[in-house]
Amino acid sequence: MKVYTVMLAGGSGTRMKTPINKTLIPLCGKTVIRRSVEAFSGFTDEMVVVCYPDSMSDMIREITKLTLSFPVRFVTGGDTRQQSVQKGLLAFQFEADDIVLIHDAARCLVSSEVIENVITGVKSAGSVVPGIPVSSTYKFCDDQQFITETPDRTHLFEIQTPQGFSASDLLTVSLKASKDGFLGTDDASLMEYYGFPVQIVPGSRNNLKLTTQDDLIAANIILKGNNKPMRVGMGYDVHRLVEGRKLILCGIEIPWPLGLLGHSDADVALHALMDAMLGACGMGDIGQHFPDTDDRFKGVSSLLLLKETNRLINAAGFTVYNADITIVAQKPKLLPYIPQMKHVVAGCLDIEESFVNVKATTTEKLGFEGREEGISSYAVCLVEQKH
Ligand code: MG
Repeated sequence: MKVYTVMLAGGSGTRMKTPINKTLIPLCGKTVIRRSVEAFSGFTDEMVVVCYPDSMSDMIREITKLTLSFPVRFVTGGDTRQQSVQKGLLAFQFEADDIVLIHDAARCLVSSEVIENVITGVKSAGSVVPGIPVSSTYKFCDDQQFITETPDRTHLFEIQTPQGFSASDLLTVSLKASKDGFLGTDDASLMEYYGFPVQIVPGSRNNLKLTTQDDLIAANIILKGNNKPMRVGMGYDVHRLVEGRKLILCGIEIPWPLGLLGHSDADVALHALMDAMLGACGMGDIGQHFPDTDDRFKGVSSLLLLKETNRLINAAGFTVYNADITIVAQKPKLLPYIPQMKHVVAGCLDIEESFVNVKATTTEKLGFEGREEGISSYAVCLVEQKH
């Protein structure tokens, strides 16, 4: 038995009032699509992401950079949700007892518990959807908004995704519906239409479908929790400029006749950043973690030290929220290298590039930086405590 997942990422940003596909919006440092895809780690054997052609290349770039336990393929969607799901289903080769999950990428807060409920439910009931009992009173009304009926709330549920099915049953029903011209509002409604029983399993109130800006605010609050403290740290470092050394700043080698002197690669900007990270977490400084008396760190790339620092603070329950680095150098001009620096640092910290800022300044020829005797760097870092 295998579990396949169809991830529907076709959402336009119309109601979100953004020009981009709403699943590419960053939420607490990770895009919506990334959160949705990563939520299925450990639950799915394969995934197909269905999206519009205009967001396909962004989607591929966003997902292929992730380290996932399952392969992901991409297909373009159809005119309706139902057609998009069918195109996703047709991308797989199902065996008789396989399970398929259909998930809206806009529900990126889906928990492991809800996915587990669905997979377990499919094994016993064949077709299941996660749902939550409604807490408001719902009314049916006519075209003039006069109420015609008040349904009994105890039998009303709000339905979420992932919806789970016997894969071959859903594919059969989907192809049949296309032939018959039947259009359902969700995947379960196709099964219902053709007489398959569909059971509701427990969903979660946090499993929001991100549709409007207000939903993004709510999702931010849920992700941050009520008592997740933020902590700030700062770092400062200086290295001397000498001949015969490479100039490496934020992991990027810059062609220049002088380079920075030090035990490692003397990447002054990353050293300041690491001190800011450790400072925010109350974990001392880089000298304590990577002493310059230790031969293991001789000539080492500071990118490796940055990754290790990130791993250390993660293990202690902290994650970097954002970082801001200032490099003080009279020469060379660093502006052309800044996009690449941001990219490399964000990759090491496993956060979005927009949460890393790198800037460079001169000192108007004043002081040791101005005399080109050395380069200094300042960094500020905000971390989030996980628990
Ligand atoms: Mg240093």
